[in-house]
Amino acid sequence: MNQIGQSEKLAKVCYDIRGPVLEVAKQLEEDGNRILKLNIGNPAPFGFDAPDEILQDVIRNLNNAQGYSDSKGLFSARKAIMQECQKIGIDGVDIEDIYLGNGVSELIVMSMQALLNNNDEVLVPAPDYPLWTAAVSLAGGNPVHYVCDEGADWYPDVADIESKITSRTRAIVIINPNNPTGAVYSPEILQDIIRVARKHQLIIYSDEIYSKILYDDAVHTPIASLCDDLFIVTFNGLSKSYRLAGFRSGWMILSGTREAANGYIEGLEILSNMRLCSNVPAQFAVQTALGGYQSINELILPGGRLREQRDAVYELLTDIPGVSCVKPKGAIYMFPKLDPVMYPIADDEKFVLELLEKEKILLVQGSAFNIKDTQHLRIVFLPTVDVLQQSVAKIERFLGKWAQQ
Ligand code: PLP
Repeated sequence: MNQIGQSEKLAKVCYDIRGPVLEVAKQLEEDGNRILKLNIGNPAPFGFDAPDEILQDVIRNLNNAQGYSDSKGLFSARKAIMQECQKIGIDGVDIEDIYLGNGVSELIVMSMQALLNNNDEVLVPAPDYPLWTAAVSLAGGNPVHYVCDEGADWYPDVADIESKITSRTRAIVIINPNNPTGAVYSPEILQDIIRVARKHQLIIYSDEIYSKILYDDAVHTPIASLCDDLFIVTFNGLSKSYRLAGFRSGWMILSGTREAANGYIEGLEILSNMRLCSNVPAQFAVQTALGGYQSINELILPGGRLREQRDAVYELLTDIPGVSCVKPKGAIYMFPKLDPVMYPIADDEKFVLELLEKEKILLVQGSAFNIKDTQHLRIVFLPTVDVLQQSVAKIERFLGKWAQQ
């Protein structure tokens, strides 16, 4: 038989968070090593249980969840999302503007597949959550990365966004709160992005999956709450704030000038119908999750576990000579910078691999988030303070040896 190769469509698709380093980690585990995994934003394995009332409701509804649902999702779930939109100021959203998906991931891919012709361009942040870049490439488009400026709290550089717009640009993606940087955008920066999108008639895609994981004085502003004269697609879901990543449950909300997007919306309907519907038992979790008590607040307020872990790992990391970090205001990641003079790193994937092999700790290299420099690492701060202390001690030891090379 001839060799079976992969589709050319995948030629430019790259998703390195689960890339080759993870394979080496699996092998090391199979060989009996214990690996400290600070690489994936998956709350449940770190003891962040989902709210019990959500689990109970899903169990209660299992019998009703045996068949397919409407392809866009259960009425009760979409109604709850619609009411959430009213609460957070996204105006005029109707049940039909809401699509449920098998996680935000499925909807990101779907939203790009429905939009892009070959070589259309989408402005994607750098650093980004790399699924966005991969989804644009898979749909035949060209991801064009705009700079988020570490020197300005990792805010998007709006002048850079504007300078990269061409006649082929279709959309701007924002991730707010941001993975990997933890930046939470101010209304002012969002207004600047809206102004650029308005001037060039671009769609805005806003990934807001961490909207409820905020620290200190951070306030999350949905960009769609600031603008109704553009077409905006907002993404959110149960994976992070409700610790239900395994349920694969997310949603996408269309708002603003939907009448100008009829053709695109028809495309979304085709793709939504083609996958029949998203996982129905998990859809039953949405109404309970969004309504009522938000237990995530206990974790992020002073004394809360996530907040304490963020503070601890920030202090520990920035105590290491030559390590700096913008303190995250949201989400569950640190994105520290290693001083290029003390720790010159030519290939950060190799660096992370060596760290894994020597210290049995698994991080993700900064370049996996589509930045050009190789001096950043992403660290998930879901483990307990104890484990974070052990982890940072290992990183420090490794860096000490690296500096002497
Ligand atoms: N968007 C961002 C910014 C993420 O960080 C993640 C997961 O880490 C996702 C989307 C994927 O979410 P889901 O589990 O809903 O597919």
